[in-house]
Amino acid sequence: MKYVHPVIISTLFWLASSAWAAAAEQDTPIVLKPDRVFDGTTGTSHEGWVVLVKGEKIAAAGPADSVEVPKDAKVIALPGTTLLPGLIDAHSHLLLHPYDEAPWDDQVLKEPLAERICRATVHAKADLLSGFTTLRDLGTEGAGYADVGIKRAIEKGIVPGPRLLVATRAIVATGSYAPRGFAPEVRVPQGAEEADGQTLRRVVRDQIRGGADWIKVYADFPHGPGKGAKPAFTLDELKLIVGTAKDAGVPVVAHATSKEGMRRAALAGVETIEHGDDGDVEVFRLMAERGVGYCPTLAAAEAYARYAGWRRGTPEPAGLRSKRESLKAALEAGVTVVNGSDIGVFAHGDGARELELLVEYGMTPVQAVKAATSVAAKALHLEEKVGAVKPGLLADLIAVEGDPTKDVKVLRKVQLVMKGGAIYKQP
Ligand SMILES: [Zn+2]
Repeated sequence: MKYVHPVIISTLFWLASSAWAAAAEQDTPIVLKPDRVFDGTTGTSHEGWVVLVKGEKIAAAGPADSVEVPKDAKVIALPGTTLLPGLIDAHSHLLLHPYDEAPWDDQVLKEPLAERICRATVHAKADLLSGFTTLRDLGTEGAGYADVGIKRAIEKGIVPGPRLLVATRAIVATGSYAPRGFAPEVRVPQGAEEADGQTLRRVVRDQIRGGADWIKVYADFPHGPGKGAKPAFTLDELKLIVGTAKDAGVPVVAHATSKEGMRRAALAGVETIEHGDDGDVEVFRLMAERGVGYCPTLAAAEAYARYAGWRRGTPEPAGLRSKRESLKAALEAGVTVVNGSDIGVFAHGDGARELELLVEYGMTPVQAVKAATSVAAKALHLEEKVGAVKPGLLADLIAVEGDPTKDVKVLRKVQLVMKGGAIYKQP
């Protein structure tokens, strides 16, 4: 280095010293003092508990007089709040925004990739600050492997956002997905990767090489003559996908709205099924027997109804009534319900809507909050890292005004957001 401008030197010094300050801050133990703690696994909250955070992890949690507080600890008082694990949404799309702002086709075909990625970073921040510290992002909808890069940027601290598990491009059967409606001579890029038969092996491996934490497959979709979803892959094709991914230690998630699509996906060995609009007790029992989780995506269904002109307080359209019925059937069958909303179809930052609807459609508030914490963590194989307030786990914690185990609406009143011991929002 021959000559370095003084401004550059001082900037370098500032960067180094602020990085040091951040590291020192991270090393200072933090004691969180809410009114109560919901640990994510039990049926009730613990009044008068405190939580000690050291570095990126939870060091202790329990009654105030049982937790030894280091002398140098920074105390954060959170009066009137409940502290709980950071929320998990197991079905998000950071690369989509509400369809009443721009129809899905226009987002996929007309928005430049850079615009979509810029939007995604804004979405990631909105979701984090609304209390969602982990998302399983289920497909970029035409944005290739952009989710892998966004995940890295978040991990490197370049942009704030939740922990991400990503699915990259997702897999659809040839001719079954969208955009569509063009002349047969015109081939339009699709919102997911088309593959069939033996090619599925290569595509699964390609997506895993590209960074897929999960493989997503569309087991059914409306295609062919007439309306309604029809199976897109044979049972053997689905088994090929699951087997190939499993060899690499990668789980598979299936989009399925029809009973037959759900049945095939469950038999093929996928780990969660998304949407399940036409699911009945019989197919949900099959899922329960095979340990397949269910993400209902109620908030997306409600958004579709709104975009089609429905207003809350007026009679519900058929799509929403079948959602109510399917969640009822799922609960009756004892299937594991995992919080997964399809956020992106509706506004990022509004993820609490799914929990409100889970309760409105029949779950207790405790069941709903567990579905978004410990239950979701287990379904995503993250139970050793997040989803509970337990010593040794990552300090992904939020505090909300009031008690969400009595009223999930208070999940909208987020006072504190901590991810990996770092504070993103505080009173
Ligand atoms: Zn989706």
